[in-house]
Amino acid sequence: MAEILDVSLEMRDYIVSSGAETLSECMQCGLCTNLCPWRLVHGEVSESFNIRKMQRQAQLGLDGFDEEEVLFACVTCGMCQVNCPREVKIIENVIGMRNTTAGAGFIPKILKPVVSSVRSNGNPWMGEQSKRAEWQEGLDIPAFSEDTEYLLYVCCNSCYDPRGKKIAKSIVNLLQKAGVSFGVLTAEEKCCGESIRKLGDEELYQKLAESNIGLFNGKGVKKIITTSPHCLDTFKKDYPELGGEYEVIHYSELLGNLLKEGKLAFSAEQAKKVTFHDPCYLGRHNQVFDSPRELLQAVPGVELVELERTKCNSLCCGGGGARVWAEVPAGERFSELRITDAVDKKADILVTACPYCITMLVDACAGLEKGDVLQVMEMSEFLSKAL
Ligand code: SF4
Ligand code: SF4
Repeated sequence: MAEILDVSLEMRDYIVSSGAETLSECMQCGLCTNLCPWRLVHGEVSESFNIRKMQRQAQLGLDGFDEEEVLFACVTCGMCQVNCPREVKIIENVIGMRNTTAGAGFIPKILKPVVSSVRSNGNPWMGEQSKRAEWQEGLDIPAFSEDTEYLLYVCCNSCYDPRGKKIAKSIVNLLQKAGVSFGVLTAEEKCCGESIRKLGDEELYQKLAESNIGLFNGKGVKKIITTSPHCLDTFKKDYPELGGEYEVIHYSELLGNLLKEGKLAFSAEQAKKVTFHDPCYLGRHNQVFDSPRELLQAVPGVELVELERTKCNSLCCGGGGARVWAEVPAGERFSELRITDAVDKKADILVTACPYCITMLVDACAGLEKGDVLQVMEMSEFLSKAL
């Protein structure tokens, strides 16, 4: 006998009121499921996670969408969303569903220390707030003032992670060489809140955002350079509704503009075959595709090759949607597919422009033991070498 399903329209309404405003627009065509990167891997999460089905369960308020391996699987890469024929805001629907459980404290065990660290330290990497500016040691970076054009906002990852710190230093080096007027407020800033909002703790996200907006507005910030595409997306799209209106640019786009204006040039030859991995939040979410490529091609000796899945069709590294902290078994890691894509192109260096992508791709390259044929570099590290 067919199972009788326990439909709950109250639950559906609760999910919609938690942010899934376009949930009812979904006509269940299934295109999102087919395009989702989880279809490219095989394993437990891949078998459980189906974004079309999850939205159907939510439309009917049925049990199932809230199972941990389903609810927290989405990496918010946006591949489904940019192709949905009904323009359903699929990521907002996922966040809405997560809000129904995460707001009440029900989040995966692995994310609990992350949330605790954000609450107590203002960042998800367990670093003390007082050490947020330590990465600047040995550099001469002015504090932001109203005479400064840009605030340089450095992602928490780059404030605390050893590799991330090197990336922040490389970005500062490039900005200074190009004569950009910028300053920092690092010691006083908090996490932009991107991952916290994506994992569904809206209340904590708003506290972080309001703290940063109060700081930025109080200091007269008008323009922000971000080191991470995730901060870029959050400042650009989420902060305005809380009173934070700024002109926001990712460092790679700013450097691309300066290159065209003749304010930046590269003279040290790098005779390498290089390929570029488009971070989801730089490319698909914010349409920055050309600047990174123009910068790489401006380096003497570089042969730029495109990956098979590129630009708007780029394959996610697996680190978005707070999954940079997830434990994913080998075989289900999108980053490993990405390393294989680069190795197939016989690239010497896989360049990207996002701290999460670096974390995921460096781990995958080591895990696949491809370090002898492929180097993973953040764009700023590569460009700094070419100055
Ligand atoms: S592609 Fe859009 S309309 Fe089709 S199932 Fe997915 S969300 Fe629904
Ligand atoms: S955003 Fe990416 S991971 Fe999430 S459902 Fe869409 S395609 Fe899948």
